[in-house]
Amino acid sequence: MISERMIPLVNNNSAIRTMFEEGKRLAEKYGRENVYDFSLGNPSVPAPEAVKKAICDIASSEDPVFLHGYMSNAGYEDVRAAIADSLNRRFGTGFDEENILMTVGAASGMNVILKAILDPGDEVIVFAPYFLEYNAYINNYDGKVVAISPDTETFQPKLSEFEERISERTKAVIINTPNNPTGVIYSEETLKRIGEILLKKEKEYKKPIVLISDEPYRELAYDGATVPYVTKYYHNTVVCYSYSKSLSLPGERIGYLVIPDEMEEHETVFSAATIANRVLGCVNAPSLMQRVVMRCVDEKTDVEAYDRNRRLLYGGLREAGFECVKPEGAFYIFMKVPGGDDKAFCEEAKKENILVVPGSSFACPGYVRIAYCVSHDMIERSLPAFKRLGDITVNQVFS
Ligand code: PLP
Repeated sequence: MISERMIPLVNNNSAIRTMFEEGKRLAEKYGRENVYDFSLGNPSVPAPEAVKKAICDIASSEDPVFLHGYMSNAGYEDVRAAIADSLNRRFGTGFDEENILMTVGAASGMNVILKAILDPGDEVIVFAPYFLEYNAYINNYDGKVVAISPDTETFQPKLSEFEERISERTKAVIINTPNNPTGVIYSEETLKRIGEILLKKEKEYKKPIVLISDEPYRELAYDGATVPYVTKYYHNTVVCYSYSKSLSLPGERIGYLVIPDEMEEHETVFSAATIANRVLGCVNAPSLMQRVVMRCVDEKTDVEAYDRNRRLLYGGLREAGFECVKPEGAFYIFMKVPGGDDKAFCEEAKKENILVVPGSSFACPGYVRIAYCVSHDMIERSLPAFKRLGDITVNQVFS
C-alpha cells in the first residue's frame, strides 16, 4: 500500500525517536528518577515568561477572526518586518519584510527552500556529522545527498574535500552552526572560506549554488562565543531559523526563512518559497505564534542553565575517562565511543538506564550524541552511572 519512497523511512524510523520511546518504557519500569534520558533535543528550560504573557494577552485581546484567520502565505507583514528589524539591530544586516518568510519551524523551512530550488538529480552537500533528517528532506524533492567526511579532531567542515566534491550538479550546501550533534560553532574564517569556494565554483560552472544555513541553535553559544551571520559571507545564502530552541517552543512549530536581496533572482526565489509553503500543505505558519514571536522578538532563553549543564556533564564525562570535543554551542556533546562500536555502546549504556543516540544516526559512527537539554539534577544523578559505564567501556572495551 505505501509508496516506494516511504518504505526505507518506515523501516529505518528515526533512532532518536526510537530512543525517546525506549526512555518512556524504561521510566515506567524503573521509575522516572532512575532513567537518564539524553536522547531528544527537547528544551528543558521553559519558554520565557514573556511568551506566556504574550499568548494570554493576544488570545484575549485580538479580534479572533483576524487572529485565527488566513493571511499571506509568507506570514503577517508586520511580524516579518519586526523580525527583519531585530536582525538588523543585532547583526547589522539590511533586511525588510520582503526578506522574511514565516515557516512551520526549521524542518518545514528546510523543506520549503529545498522544494523551491531542487530539480531531480540535483546534489546537496552536507557535512558529517549532520542531522540525518536532511536526507529525507532532500529525498522529498529527488535531490541527491553528498556527505563530506567528518574531521574528527575538530568537527569543523573539511574544506579541501568540500571543494573537491562540488560538481556541476551541486545545487545547494547545508551548514548547521552551532551544530547538532557536535556543539561546534563555525568560525568567521571558515564561513568566509566556504563563501569564497562557492563563489569560485559558481563562476566555474556558471550556475548558482545556494548555501542553506540551518540555525535552530543560533542563540545557544557559551563562553562569549559569537555565531557570525552567514548572509554576510556569500550572496546566495538562505537562513533557516527556528524558535523551537531559542524560545523553547518546539511543539508550537514556528520559524522563518531569510531570503536576502543579494540572492540571485531574489523575488522569484521568495515567490517560489512562498508557494512551496502553501503547496506543501503548511499554507502559512501558525497565526497566534507569529503574533507571539513578534512581541518576543528580543526575548532570550536561559542560556546560563544550559551552560551549567554543559560544564557539569563535560567535566563528568572527562572524569569518567571519555573523550569529547568541548561544545561551544547548542545543547549536545558528541562523545567518542571506546572501541568504536556506537550501537553496542548505546546498548551497554541502556544497562545503566542511560539513553544516548548513536553517531551512526548522524552519519558519524564511533560516537554518541548526548543531549544535555535536561534537568541539572538528572545530570548530577547520572554521573555515577556514566562513571560505571566508563569503567566498563574505557578500561575493558566491551565486546
Ligand atoms: N535542524 C536541526 C539541526 C535540528 O537539530 C532540528 C531539531 O532538532 C531541526 C532542524 C528542526 O527544528 P524545528 O523544530 O524548528 O523544525
